[in-house]
Amino acid sequence: MPHIGIIGAGTAGLHLGLLLRRQDIPVTLYSARSPRDLASSRLLATVAHHAPTLRRERDLGVHFWPVEEYGYTCHHHYVGGDRPLRFRGDFTAPSSAIDDRLYLPALAEAYENNGGELRVGHLEARDLAALADRHDLVVVAAGRSAFTELFPRRDAHSPFRAPQRRLCAGLYHGVHPAEPKGVTLSISPGNGELVEIPLFSRDGHVTALLFESIPGGEQDVLGDISYDEDPALFTRTVLGRLAAHHPDVFQRVDPGRFGLTGPLDLLQGGIVPTVRTDHARLPNGRYALAIGDAHTVVDPITGQGANSASHSAWVTGEEICEDLALDELFCRRVARRRADVVLGAARWTNLMIQPPPDHLLGLLAAMSQNPGAAGEFTDNFGHPDRQWRILATPERTRAFLARHGAGPGSPW
Ligand SMILES: Cc1cc2nc3c(=O)[nH]c(=O)nc-3n(C[C@H](O)[C@H](O)[C@H](O)COP(=O)(O)OP(=O)(O)OC[C@H]3O[C@@H](n4cnc5c(N)ncnc54)[C@H](O)[C@@H]3O)c2cc1C
Repeated sequence: MPHIGIIGAGTAGLHLGLLLRRQDIPVTLYSARSPRDLASSRLLATVAHHAPTLRRERDLGVHFWPVEEYGYTCHHHYVGGDRPLRFRGDFTAPSSAIDDRLYLPALAEAYENNGGELRVGHLEARDLAALADRHDLVVVAAGRSAFTELFPRRDAHSPFRAPQRRLCAGLYHGVHPAEPKGVTLSISPGNGELVEIPLFSRDGHVTALLFESIPGGEQDVLGDISYDEDPALFTRTVLGRLAAHHPDVFQRVDPGRFGLTGPLDLLQGGIVPTVRTDHARLPNGRYALAIGDAHTVVDPITGQGANSASHSAWVTGEEICEDLALDELFCRRVARRRADVVLGAARWTNLMIQPPPDHLLGLLAAMSQNPGAAGEFTDNFGHPDRQWRILATPERTRAFLARHGAGPGSPW
């Protein structure tokens, strides 16, 4: 049996580790942070898992937060402007958002209970040679900032050199959930977006507000205003931006109760969307394979990173179980099998953070009149490959709308 080394115990590393342990394959996970450290850390992200990821969690025996109680069933949309658009898209199967500070330690525990080895310690590129001697394959699942030199960026798939959105993600009390329970995607043209997510954290059912601000726009102040320096000013500023740009969420706010659930429940910054090479040859001739953010990192606007990481982990695990050798051919097979989903997520997300082309605007307008189209678009948050097939060209978007009976009347 091969012995697999995985660097990183995020969604990518843990889903792969759990899948391999299910087949009794020996695995060592190396992680810079212990699960206990993670549990008490600053907010890591505000992650929604979609139906295919939840299905994988069920298969792995780690669906600890039943979707019937913790999940949500739709996306509510608000597009601001002279004539605002409002519409809903329903999933065929629910999504769910659990704070990674609960989710990842629980999965790490399940992995260890299944006989997986977890070693805590920060690894550097110079450690890879020793790892390659110890393991038949080194899977790098170390997130977006580590081992970047081992996997150079692929320019053809990485159009940006800087973040296109400044992020302000926080967990809040005092927002009444949307009805039916769902995510609200709210667009303020020229300023950015707000993704409001019903999320379960250590404080129970709370509201995640992820502001995606266009640099220089009116929402941009949220990218760096300090909560620690002046919590009241921070809260007033968030409320002000909600009122000005995201009225459908603002109207559900109880101003007397509104506020962050805690000083650590806030994350500000930005992400440079980047696709990297799939694999690298190590000095002893064995291979390192990148999965998750170490391979493809996307802006969180479409909620794809962790779902894509899970898909990549799954494909990798299945190939490890099936293939005859963990060589370059194996790495290429993994790359081919995951490409549609992983690159679909990257291409679709990159489209959403650029000035919107006419066919995207036309699609939004058409979906506001067509629940069938809105439903399929929403369901495709779990299928980024299918979403990209709808959005890649104006002709494809027209064909999609025609399939839903929204023919030549569509508005572009
Ligand atoms: C605000 C925000 C909202 C998001 N919302 C969503 C969403 O709704 N849906 C979605 O699917 N995705 C979302 N994402 C993206 C998602 O969080 C990431 O894509 C996902 O966490 C990537 O998982 P990963 O396992 O690849 O990496 P990570 O979760 O970053 O894990 C990396 C692991 O590697 C370890 N590590 C790092 N460096 C080293 C080292 N040198 N040595 C040893 N170990 C190391 C870390 O300790 C960690 O265990 C969001 C991200 C943000 C920031």
